[in-house]
Amino acid sequence: MRSTTGPKSTVCEVQRWTTTTVKEAQAAKERFVRDSSQSGGAKPGDPEDERCEVFRWVAASVDEVLKLRIREPGLRLRCVECKMPVRVHRALLPTGSPAPHFEHYAGNPQCSRSDG
Ligand SMILES: [Zn+2]
Repeated sequence: MRSTTGPKSTVCEVQRWTTTTVKEAQAAKERFVRDSSQSGGAKPGDPEDERCEVFRWVAASVDEVLKLRIREPGLRLRCVECKMPVRVHRALLPTGSPAPHFEHYAGNPQCSRSDG
């Protein structure tokens, strides 16, 4: 079985800690951790400006993911379209190999980024 060359996915989503405001995190119903490094100078009772950290899915390219994985080997990746788990497919042979891209662990026929 040889699949036709469809659109390859060169971007995926990774879970990373991102700094945002408590207000925004609460609006998005995200789990957040208050940034303790800034609580010293901030005056209490001012949630508008209070910063926090959220563990959020953000888009990342193949290159970014490969760099991130050096520090975080267990980094979880998912498809930006169908949110299914994906992995990096790297070219192992110099000829006839596709460019590095993200590949679904299990093909998803409903996803335009899946090879099927
Ligand atoms: Zn997908």
